[in-house]
Amino acid sequence: MFVVELEFECFDNTTISAVDKAINGLMEALRYNGQVLGREFPVVMGEGEFFVRAVCPEKESLHPRNHSDFVKVCLERLTDACLLAPKVRLLGRDMNSEQAADDVQPSWQVLYTTYVHTCSPLRSGDTLLPIPLYRNEPTFNGDHKAVVKWQTEWQACDEIQMAGSCKAEHAALHEICDVDSDMFIRGWDLRGRIEYLTKVPTYYYLYRVGGISLAQEQARRCPKCNGEWLLEEPLHDIFHFKCDQCRIVSNISWDHLK
Ligand SMILES: [Zn+2]
Repeated sequence: MFVVELEFECFDNTTISAVDKAINGLMEALRYNGQVLGREFPVVMGEGEFFVRAVCPEKESLHPRNHSDFVKVCLERLTDACLLAPKVRLLGRDMNSEQAADDVQPSWQVLYTTYVHTCSPLRSGDTLLPIPLYRNEPTFNGDHKAVVKWQTEWQACDEIQMAGSCKAEHAALHEICDVDSDMFIRGWDLRGRIEYLTKVPTYYYLYRVGGISLAQEQARRCPKCNGEWLLEEPLHDIFHFKCDQCRIVSNISWDHLK
């Protein structure tokens, strides 16, 4: 991932609230298209210009060829706040985040995220590296908002269950572990849509924790079709189960893998 700085120059007198609305609207549109990652974008005021720092999946993520229609509209709206289109400066590689997958068609891919990952939740099944969302056709309504929103909520559930310190833990676990949860239904539909658009088999990662014993965990069946799905060797040390019919991957509960 790469850190960039966007410089917005004012061409006439404007107000802070107009600038705030225009810049944050643009950053939200970029985020919903996978062109910037994370949720917080500090805006620094200079002398007649504003600076915003953001993390992008690739050096050229903010190139106009990657813009969604919503991003284009937000760029036009900058004029209403008397701002010019931003100049983008590449500051360098972000040492804390993963590189993006190469721009080649993977043999399979997976919707996989955790609460510590800010990168794209769509990953190459070959390398497990994140695939920038803007590389694919818009998932719905012109961009990838549905995928980004699903990821944000999945991560919130993951963070609650990892902290394990409140009564919401059980409900959060249900959302990320069970095939009758809202998170599963939405995410599994999204993976179907992505598979349809990319023509690449696309899987959904179902989180697993708890369980009685390693033997019982290994005997687990696909929760959707009740078929055999245990792999001889785990993929990427994470996915021990894979159902090709239902397009679901899962892990053996970490509690029994010591
Ligand atoms: Zn199945």
